[in-house]
Amino acid sequence: MGLSGKAGRWSIVLDNTPQPRNDLKSNVKPYVTRIDNPRYIVIGAGIGGLSAAVHLAAAGRRVLILEQAKTVGGKMGEMHVGGYRWDTGPSVITMRHVLDDLFAIAGRDMAHYLNLHPVEPLTRYFYPDGTVLDISRDVARTLAQIQKIEARDVEGYLQFLAYAARLYRVVSPVFIYDQPPRLGSLLKGSPLDTLRIDGVRSMRQAILYARRICANC
Ligand SMILES: Cc1cc2nc3c(=O)[nH]c(=O)nc-3n(C[C@H](O)[C@H](O)[C@H](O)COP(=O)(O)OP(=O)(O)OC[C@H]3O[C@@H](n4cnc5c(N)ncnc54)[C@H](O)[C@@H]3O)c2cc1C
Repeated sequence: MGLSGKAGRWSIVLDNTPQPRNDLKSNVKPYVTRIDNPRYIVIGAGIGGLSAAVHLAAAGRRVLILEQAKTVGGKMGEMHVGGYRWDTGPSVITMRHVLDDLFAIAGRDMAHYLNLHPVEPLTRYFYPDGTVLDISRDVARTLAQIQKIEARDVEGYLQFLAYAARLYRVVSPVFIYDQPPRLGSLLKGSPLDTLRIDGVRSMRQAILYARRICANC
């Protein structure tokens, strides 16, 4: 894998030979003509482009990634303000197995590159009336927090988790873990499941509907 970041624009060349390439120029256009006939060009070095390129390189393809920004990572960046470090995008990894698979495909040990730490709580919500709600990786701990605020919402939260789990079970094999969906792949699931995925409502609409139904629970 070769890296180049002169003058603030990046190009990355991934191939299956681990030779660093120092001959890349810093302006995007010349890269394209100077690279030894890259077979694949990925536009954008966000986590999506980087992982697509790793997959291609691991499959023995020669890949060139072009990035317009000064750094790689896309939304997965950080900024430093007032002595604090802020994530500009993802702060928690919710699908660790995807990262595990990516490193495994590349034949690398993720532990050599990343230190992942469990985060507790996952998120802390502050409401205008002073209420604070910690969402934990431990469902029982989250439920105890909700119980303190409004006991009836314990059921609502469990229903929401079941609803989200159902969406993930039905939708993820088609939309997350497969090739871009086609009519054929959309018809693969059971018709009952297709009806259950609540495809015409936004999540907000679904939650508002559930709240209306449960208003007098
Ligand atoms: C505030 C926020 C919080 C988030 N929190 C989480 C979280 O906690 N956990 C989680 O898993 N996900 C989270 N996400 C989602 C996650 O950040 C994104 O799904 C992921 O970073 C998207 O990666 P990407 O590569 O698809 O796109 P991007 O990160 O947007 O990368 C696209 C890249 O392409 C470059 N580019 C675009 N056009 C061109 C061009 N014409 N030429 C060259 N380069 C180009 C851009 O500069 C950029 O670097 C969060 C997102 C946001 C905004």
